[in-house]
Amino acid sequence: MKFTFVTLFPNLIEPYFKDSILKIATQKGVIEIDFVNPRDFTKNRHNRVDDTLIGGGAGMLMMPQPLDDAIKYIKKQDPKAYIIFPTPSAKLFKQKDAKRLSKKEHIVFVSGRYEGIDERVIEIYANEVFSIGDYILTGGELPSLVMCDAISRNIPKVLGNSSSLEVESYEDHLLEAPSFTKPNIFEKNSVIKEFLKGNHAKIATLKYDLSLLKTKYHRTDLYRKLKTKGKDYEK
Ligand code: SAM
Repeated sequence: MKFTFVTLFPNLIEPYFKDSILKIATQKGVIEIDFVNPRDFTKNRHNRVDDTLIGGGAGMLMMPQPLDDAIKYIKKQDPKAYIIFPTPSAKLFKQKDAKRLSKKEHIVFVSGRYEGIDERVIEIYANEVFSIGDYILTGGELPSLVMCDAISRNIPKVLGNSSSLEVESYEDHLLEAPSFTKPNIFEKNSVIKEFLKGNHAKIATLKYDLSLLKTKYHRTDLYRKLKTKGKDYEK
């Protein structure tokens, strides 16, 4: 899978691939990353990429031409490249999107800066638009990285143990049960005693019940959607 980041600030993104799981994935060739800087496509004397808002308003907007040429450059090399614009005014990016998008061959993230991107560029090129949360960041680099990371760990061979994907939060609308490692007692707090007894069927049932409780407490929206596998949980 290839990820291309269209960004004015590649240095904000590149270091993330210099360590840990995504470093290994790039070294193994499971994922490939590339950067395209809209500033390299400017046609004005001062290499400007932003301009004032038509109709008035505070701040500056990324102008269409450099972004248009940058995306055309990418599309010329790979017409099937799948273009995603991170934007706060879009639907939320979810785990199911990460899974679905992990099947693509080439994803392009186009990062906005300033007050964002001229809407016409988004209209012309976006295959999808996503927000990563109900807050405003200074640019699209972090959202692009967040989505890239979440997508990558669903690509086969990125994680050492892919079975860990099956029991994580948001599978079946459930949050993951509490987990513990050694020591059995830490600062006078014991792990859940049942976890120490080695009865795996009992541990699995307990974990499921704890998942339900956690979901009910933290995320009532997900709890309502739960398929309770035959159990009669209150709605
Ligand atoms: N004026 C825009 C608005 O009110 O919707 C905000 C622009 S924001 C300062 C600049 C860029 O950061 C956006 O174009 C987008 O690429 C990115 N961005 C900021 N917050 C985001 C979020 N919650 N999700 C996804 N992208 C975000």
